Amino acid sequence: MADNPVTAADPASVTDPASVTDPASVTDPASVTDPVRRREQTAGRDLRYPPLPEPLVVPIYDNHTHLEIADGDEGLSVAEQLHRASSVGVRGVIQVGGDLETSRWSAQAAAAEPRMLAAVAIHPNEAPGYDAAGTLDDALAEISALAARPRVVAVGETGLDFFRTGPDGRSAQFRSFEAHIEIAKQHGLALQIHDRDAHAEVIETLLRVGAPERTVFHCFSGDAEMARICADNGWYLSFSGTVTFKNSDNLRAALAAVPRRLLLVETDAPFLTPAPFRGRPNAPYLLPHTLRAMADHLETDVSMLAAQITSNTELVYGRWDAEPVTAPDTLSPADASHRGGIA
Ligand SMILES: [Zn+2]
Repeated sequence: MADNPVTAADPASVTDPASVTDPASVTDPASVTDPVRRREQTAGRDLRYPPLPEPLVVPIYDNHTHLEIADGDEGLSVAEQLHRASSVGVRGVIQVGGDLETSRWSAQAAAAEPRMLAAVAIHPNEAPGYDAAGTLDDALAEISALAARPRVVAVGETGLDFFRTGPDGRSAQFRSFEAHIEIAKQHGLALQIHDRDAHAEVIETLLRVGAPERTVFHCFSGDAEMARICADNGWYLSFSGTVTFKNSDNLRAALAAVPRRLLLVETDAPFLTPAPFRGRPNAPYLLPHTLRAMADHLETDVSMLAAQITSNTELVYGRWDAEPVTAPDTLSPADASHRGGIA
């Protein structure tokens, strides 16, 4: 997720707290299809969801979103979010967790929803808290268990964040990041990296520990030189709405500096809303704005770029229909054990 903090959801919106804390106990499908957090609001912010963009001709996937976080003035359900996305050619999403609760939610929701695959992790800004409580190792063990479940296709978001976490939290961040890299490799999953103000250290860690075969920089925030380093290592760059911002010349230079076979696109919704709606609630259905801005900058056809990025997306995560959805109340850890064989 981006730098915007979130708060626990209004208790009234969480229908069954037990169902989001115990992966084996889900009995109410509705409990995994409604957001469980709410974005912290700042005074004066425009909370209206932007209008639907013109639909894409060639569909794409949102490589990184947080549908567990409610935002805006409409109280959109996850089903409505996915319906709006489909209606403009955003065919599916990777739903990303950042702590145990949201990682469980992501795995459960993806197991029951054909348009959703999941990524699970302890976010680098959450790792120090688990570490201080003495529960980081247990949390990492559960992330590894969640990573083995059906339709969990990535470990993330993990990485380093020196912007929000001070020097005291860094050893926990490094330990957590390295463990996530190992979990991704062990399960044969893609890695989604959160890198904020820690470019050199993230790259150094990946090279030292050995990056998973499919490594993605979520919301890429480096310059052209860093983009070339990523490309030299075969790492993917996922661009968010930040690439549409007026002051993001460095990101657009990075976009132009790498082979198109390494490009991905994401919303990081509800954060980082693309121009011209910056500041308003973001959602997967707004992804066409970012894709079109990328095509403009690359002076290429939107449909050609969409086809390339969709192909890249399926190479990184597999197809959205590769594993069938399972009714949440029939999913048990035992059902997921077949994934261990593939990894
Ligand atoms: Zn994110």
